[in-house]
Amino acid sequence: VKGLEKRFPIQKGWFRKPGYIYAVNGVDLTVYKGETLGIVGESGCGKSTLGRCILRLVEPTGGTTIFDGKDMGQLNKRDMRAVKRHMQMVFQNPFDTLNPKLTIRHILSEPLIAHHIPLAEREDLILKTIEAVGLSMHHLSRYPHEFSGGQRQRIGIARALMLRPKLIIADEPVSALDVSIQSQILNLLQDLQEQFELTYLFISHDLGVVEHIADKVAVMYLGEVVEYGKKHELFQRPMHPYTKALLSAAPVSDPDERADRIILQGDLPSTSNPPNGCKFHLRCNSCLEMCKTVAPKLQEVEGQFVACHLYGHT
Ligand code: SF4
Ligand code: MG
Repeated sequence: VKGLEKRFPIQKGWFRKPGYIYAVNGVDLTVYKGETLGIVGESGCGKSTLGRCILRLVEPTGGTTIFDGKDMGQLNKRDMRAVKRHMQMVFQNPFDTLNPKLTIRHILSEPLIAHHIPLAEREDLILKTIEAVGLSMHHLSRYPHEFSGGQRQRIGIARALMLRPKLIIADEPVSALDVSIQSQILNLLQDLQEQFELTYLFISHDLGVVEHIADKVAVMYLGEVVEYGKKHELFQRPMHPYTKALLSAAPVSDPDERADRIILQGDLPSTSNPPNGCKFHLRCNSCLEMCKTVAPKLQEVEGQFVACHLYGHT
């Protein structure tokens, strides 16, 4: 993903001035085959919109997305369809997206029918997939309301797997679940990643969840990536003041390990009228004079990437 941008026009009369909401504002990211990239940030930071832009569920307003060597902005309808087959989404609350009137068998066959998978292959694919997510053929004739939250998420994952995608974008896939169920689903996702050679983009506001599952992490703030790198480095040696504040507020297993808690000043500024310079400067306790006017760029510092004037020259 290079320079990805999504701005939404603000409708007349909603705010006084016509303008734009910059939900995603020039994001550069690379996800390698077989890895899990965690995207973290507060709600409203643009992480869901970023995921939806990559899948072309919403059309980005700028930038390029290269998937498996193909520039998605250059594809005709037919090629786009073929590429989209390899990118699937797992949603936060599968119940919202599982049609209550359909049996699980019917729900799982829909993507197969849409992509013209021959009838003879469908039943076999359905059986293999329902078993892969830890359910069985007996569940296939039931309806979504007959399942628990965790089971429904298994069904949501099965549906995403039906076409054997390469990339799965999971948007807060365990946030609606009880903590005891969360780790079961995370472990399942990890098993499936190995079994089906999947690449994950894992969107979450929950640092503990991301720490569990991700190989690399991108931290987003107001539509931009402010820090990006390998998980262990980022968690042990965060560089951006925003990442430091997020980590200091997250629950840790060993309280002695907790750095002093950094309390963020102020609220998340509006995405329709973001501050000049570094967008974090109103809340940053290390703010320099130049931060108020000059926007820092994401740059490499010792193998990690950070957008902050405290590091190197931008
Ligand atoms: Fe803080 Fe300046 Fe770094 Fe922004 S660029 S995070 S204001 S020190
Ligand atoms: Mg979201």
